[in-house]
Amino acid sequence: METVTRFAPSPTGYLHIGHAYSALINFDQAIAANGRFVLRIEDIDQTRCRPEYEAGIFEDLSWLGLTWEEPVIRQSDRMELYEARLSELQERGLIYRCFKTRKDIEEAMRAPHDAPTDAFRSRPMAPIEERDNLAASKPYAWRLSMSEAETVLGDVFTSLTFVEETKTGKVESPAYAGRFGDVVLGRKDSGASYHLSSVLDDSDQGITHVTRGEDLRDAAGLHVLLYKLFDLSPPVYRHHALITGKDGKRLAKRDHTANLRAMRENGQNPNDVKALLPSLTL
Ligand code: GLU
Repeated sequence: METVTRFAPSPTGYLHIGHAYSALINFDQAIAANGRFVLRIEDIDQTRCRPEYEAGIFEDLSWLGLTWEEPVIRQSDRMELYEARLSELQERGLIYRCFKTRKDIEEAMRAPHDAPTDAFRSRPMAPIEERDNLAASKPYAWRLSMSEAETVLGDVFTSLTFVEETKTGKVESPAYAGRFGDVVLGRKDSGASYHLSSVLDDSDQGITHVTRGEDLRDAAGLHVLLYKLFDLSPPVYRHHALITGKDGKRLAKRDHTANLRAMRENGQNPNDVKALLPSLTL
């Protein structure tokens, strides 16, 4: 099977060397396998995304020497598709409306009688209450019902694994999808969540290998559950170490010292970036 890798940044800031690391690993893997490399713009959060950051992604990656397939897919152009998939899940009884606000959840967490995990747990609302909320045009998110997913999948739900390629070869890691609780698949503001859009796009774009930071390792467990529910084939996952700043902390987009654009403007070149990174072969 042809290897297809991807880099899927969100245009919410300028890219830093951590992004360069992820993009280069994915690009190199595709080249080494004579495969394809896809760039995808993950801009569902329109309140935080900006056109100048998107332009910055293209400039920074070109400067690093990367090339990618055209046209580049933007998630903001695919909202109808995500909504169609949400409707499908709704018809199957797998998602429910959640009207809770951030404040409700914070208050629940402070409530002494609730176990910490219970505070996060949402439940479908009684139909009459839901009808009142809808009539009052209250905003809501769509949450995946883990208990319904378990009912639909039976034993598969608990035995679900994701395939991970590590230094020592391929391993099957337990998904433990239930630990995520009833995650949001349809956001109140934008209509689709990262988990939903990322899984559907990776599948539609035929991505065979998803390589991203180890902070997203657990998310692979949730993503394979979504693949299973949609009856799609999941990719192989790989995880790379996170690049930290001089203070040992994870890099943020606002950290200008590690910002690719700033480095370029300071006269540094792509080799200076690569010199700061660990091996690109995982
Ligand atoms: N847009 C996500 C990010 O920038 C991508 C995560 C992923 O690679 O799945 O963190």
